[in-house]
Amino acid sequence: MSANRYISEPTQNQVRQRAKFLCEYCHASEQWQYVSFTVDHIIPLAKGGANSIDNLALACFHCNRQKSDKLKAFDEQSLSEVILFNPRTDIWQEHFIWSTDTLRVIGLTPTGRATVAVLAFNRARVLNIRAADRETGRHPHQMTQFK
Ligand SMILES: [Zn+2]
Repeated sequence: MSANRYISEPTQNQVRQRAKFLCEYCHASEQWQYVSFTVDHIIPLAKGGANSIDNLALACFHCNRQKSDKLKAFDEQSLSEVILFNPRTDIWQEHFIWSTDTLRVIGLTPTGRATVAVLAFNRARVLNIRAADRETGRHPHQMTQFK
């Protein structure tokens, strides 16, 4: 790990609070997770991204791992390569909506659809967790609904 990859604790806390403790991609709430969420470099350092707060996003472990160093993905509907959702410059509600049963994230735009696919927002394991969390009122997080 190179030195410039280091994100100070105050910066990490700032990212967490700005995100309201939600994964800025799939909107899972960190509150109910066993492991802390990670701070993602939206544009990877290796691709010229900065270590500044404007290039950081709170991401659950899964979204961070799936995203890896990807910046673009293919959208099957428009048959085009598009830039993945950027939590700093894009608005979640413009690209995604919850299904009526609130279990699935539906992409509204090419960017939204490609991001749903690449980050596997609707994998079986997460659908089960969302269903259980919905029963206990933990899902969807109210910030997701009313932000
Ligand atoms: Zn996530």
